[in-house]
Amino acid sequence: MSTQRINELRKLINEYNHHYHVLDRPIVSDAHYDSCMRELIKLESEHPEMFDPYSPTQRVGGKVLDGFKKVTHDVAMLSLGNAYSLADLLAFDTRIRKDLGPVEYVVELKIDGLAMSLRYQNGRLALAATRGDGDEGEDVTHNIVTIKSIPLQLNENLTFEVRGEVYMPKAAFVRLNENRINNQQEPFANPRNAAAGSIRQLDSQIAASRQLDAFLYYFVNAQNFGVDSHLQALDRLSSLGFKVNPLTRICADIQDVWSFIEEMTSKRAELPYDIDGIVIKVNSLSSQNRLGFTAKTPRWAIAYKFPADEVMTHLEDIFLTVGRTGKITPNARLTPVTVAQTTVGFAQLHNEDYIRHKDIRVNDTVIIRKAGDIIPEVVASLPQLRDENSKPYTFEKHCPVCHQPLVRFEDEADTYCINNECPARIIEAIAHFASRDAMNIDGLGVKRVEQLYHNGLIRSVEDIYFLHQKREALTSLEKMGEKSVDKLLMAIEASKSNSLDKLLYGLGIRHIGEKAASTLASKFTTMQQLMEATQEQLSAVKEIGTVMAQSVVLFFSQQPNHHLIDVLRSAGVTMEMTKKRSESTSFFSGKTVVLTGTLIQMTRSEASEWLSTQGANVTSSVSKNTDLVIAGSEAGSKLSKALSLGVLVWDEERFMKEVTSIEN
Ligand code: NAD
Repeated sequence: MSTQRINELRKLINEYNHHYHVLDRPIVSDAHYDSCMRELIKLESEHPEMFDPYSPTQRVGGKVLDGFKKVTHDVAMLSLGNAYSLADLLAFDTRIRKDLGPVEYVVELKIDGLAMSLRYQNGRLALAATRGDGDEGEDVTHNIVTIKSIPLQLNENLTFEVRGEVYMPKAAFVRLNENRINNQQEPFANPRNAAAGSIRQLDSQIAASRQLDAFLYYFVNAQNFGVDSHLQALDRLSSLGFKVNPLTRICADIQDVWSFIEEMTSKRAELPYDIDGIVIKVNSLSSQNRLGFTAKTPRWAIAYKFPADEVMTHLEDIFLTVGRTGKITPNARLTPVTVAQTTVGFAQLHNEDYIRHKDIRVNDTVIIRKAGDIIPEVVASLPQLRDENSKPYTFEKHCPVCHQPLVRFEDEADTYCINNECPARIIEAIAHFASRDAMNIDGLGVKRVEQLYHNGLIRSVEDIYFLHQKREALTSLEKMGEKSVDKLLMAIEASKSNSLDKLLYGLGIRHIGEKAASTLASKFTTMQQLMEATQEQLSAVKEIGTVMAQSVVLFFSQQPNHHLIDVLRSAGVTMEMTKKRSESTSFFSGKTVVLTGTLIQMTRSEASEWLSTQGANVTSSVSKNTDLVIAGSEAGSKLSKALSLGVLVWDEERFMKEVTSIEN
C-alpha cells in the first residue's frame, strides 16, 4: 500500500513540478503541492528501503527549457527546508544549538519570485542564470539587464557571484493580468509565475515591459571578501549598489524570530510585493560552514511558510451580474472557505474567455486564491476530481435581469447588456450616484435602491431629489421607519451642496473616475463650462486623455443627459466647484504625497481629499519622486521604503499642525 502511494506521489509531484518550474503554469495550488510533498517525505522516512536519488524529495526545481544556453552553477543553487509552525522552528533551533550552542539568526522576507544567480567579472555583470535543477540553469542575461535596479557596472572591480530573487510587484501583476484577460490571454496564476514567465523568454522586449524588480540576499563565498556574517554580507551588497530588502533583522533567539514572523504576518498584505514566508538564517558564516548542506537544502537556513492563501473548495454555481455600464460579470458561488484569514463565498470569473481557458465548470473542485488585497479568484479547477457527467460551462445568451440578448463586441473580452432600460443597470447607476465617493447619500446603497425601484418610488437618478414628496409611501416600506426616512431625506438634502467634482463622478460618465472628475471640475469650475467644452479643450487638460475627452463630449451630446442636468439644477443641486482651491503658497502645492498607516483625526480618504484641495498629488506608492510620506500608526512597508530612500516623513501630529495652520 505504502509502496504504491510513494510511487503515485512521486509521479504526481514530478508532473506538478514540470508544470510549475518548466512551463510556469501550475496545475495545483502550492498548498496542495506542499501537502503531497510532506506526505511523501513522511512515507519515505518510514520506508528507507524505498530511497531513490531521483525522488522529487531529493531534487531541486525543474529542467532547463530548450532555446536557452545552459549554465553550470559553480556552487549549487539549493532550495530551503520548510517550517509550517512554531514547533517546526523550535525543532530547527534545537538542531542548530545542539551543534553550535546559542546562535544569532538573521530573518528575511521570503520574496515570492524566482531565484537568480548573477556573476560579476571585474565589476561588470557578466552572466545571469536561473536556478534550473540547482546544478544547471538557463542563461537569461539578456532579460536581467532590463531590470533597472540590477547594476550592470559596480564601483569596485570585483569578481564574484551574488544571488537573489527576481519578482513582479503586486500592482504590476494586477495590471498585467488585466491586460492579458482583455487580450484573451490566459492570466498568470500568481506574481511568481508571472516573473518566471517574463524572465524565461527569448525576446527581451517582453521582460523589459513587465516592471520586474530584484532583491539580492546571498553573497556567494563572502568570506573571501573579508566578511564574517550574513548581515555584513548584505551590508556589503548594499554598498556595492544592490537592492537589499530593508525589512531584514537580526534576532537573538528563536522567540525573537517568532515575534518577527507574527509582525510580518499582519503587515504582509500592505507590502507592494508578495511574500510567501520568512527565511531564517544563521548569521555567522563560520557557523554556516560548520553546519553545511544536505543534498537539497542548507542546514543553516529554513523557510517558514505562511499558512496557505490558496485553498480548495467546491464551486456550487456560476451566475452573472450586471454593472451600471451594462458590463456582465460572471461570478462563482463557492462553498464558503477561509482564505488569508477571511471567509470567501464568492469569486470573480472575469469574463467568458477566462472561464473557457481555465475550463471552470459548475460542481468543480477549484483552487481559490486571495493574495494581499486582491479580490478572491479561481486559480484553477481540478479536472481529475470531476464527475464524469460534468459539462463545460456555456455562457448565458440573455441578461439575467431584463432577459434581453447579451452582446459581445468584436475584439472585446467583455459581454454587455445594451438595454438602457435594464433595471439592473439603472439600480447600479443610482447606487453609484449616491455612493460615498460620489454624492455620499447615506442610506441609499444597492439594496435600498432596489427596494425603492421595485416599489416604483425611484426610476432614475433625478427621482432621488423628489423622494421628499413621497414621504408616506417611504415610511410604509419594510425596514423604513420615520427615523430612517428622515435621515435619508436629510442626506439627500445635504448632497445638494456637494461640489461639482462629486456630482461629475456620480454621473458615471464612462472612463471618468474620481480623479478625472476632480481634475475636470477644478479646471472648468462650472457644469455649464464643462458641457460647452470641446474635445480639444478637454484633452488639453493634463491627465485627461483622448478617450476620456471623447467620452465626456459624447455624454453631454445626449439629450437625456441634458434633461438630467436640468432637473438636478432645478432641484437645487450645486453645479459648480465649491471647494477651497490651493493657494500657490500652500506647502503642499505641487508636491507628491503618500499616506500610509492609520490616521486618527481624519480618515485617509478625508486627508487625501484635503491634500488634493491644496494642490498636492496624492499617490499610493513611494518612490524617489515622492516629496512627503504621512505615516499614521502601524505604517508598514511604505514607511520603511520612504526611510530607505531618504524621503521626508511626517507623523500625524506634524501633519495636523500644518492642516490647522492652513485652515485658520
Ligand atoms: P521554496 O520556494 O520553498 O524556497 C526556496 C526559494 O526561496 C529559493 O530558491 C529562493 O528562490 C527563494 N527565496 C526568497 N527569498 C529568499 C531569501 N530571503 N533567502 C533565500 N531564499 C529566498 O523552494 P523552491 O524549491 O523554490 O519551491 C518549492 C515550493 O514551490 C513548494 O514548496 C511549493 O510551494 C512551490 N511549488 C508549487 C508547485 C505547484 O504545482 N503548485 C510545484 C512545485 C513547487
